[in-house]
Amino acid sequence: MDSSTICMESKGENMRHVPRLCPRCKRVPLRTPQVMNSLSRCTRGIDDEHVYVCNPCGTDEAFEEYHTGGAGLTPMINWPIESRVNQDIIDVLQVQYDIMLTEQMEELL
Ligand SMILES: [Zn+2]
Repeated sequence: MDSSTICMESKGENMRHVPRLCPRCKRVPLRTPQVMNSLSRCTRGIDDEHVYVCNPCGTDEAFEEYHTGGAGLTPMINWPIESRVNQDIIDVLQVQYDIMLTEQMEELL
């Protein structure tokens, strides 16, 4: 098997396992390709089957982990979640990101 075959197979593998909606919040459509989403911190173990979540949920997990020293992740058994624990922070970050993008676009004009 040459390297191009391996590459094709891994692409096919990726396409098969991309659910349409984020499995954590069941609200946000996942992006294609899969790597444009966030790898859930619940599935980062060496033997875990990787599960991707939407980027706001990825940020939510990052803050869950940060605030609790790694012990506070909402486990997959509690998915889909009612609401994100850190939605306020996520909203603030999104606004700041939008401002940054707008400023960069203005510089290009
Ligand atoms: Zn989500």
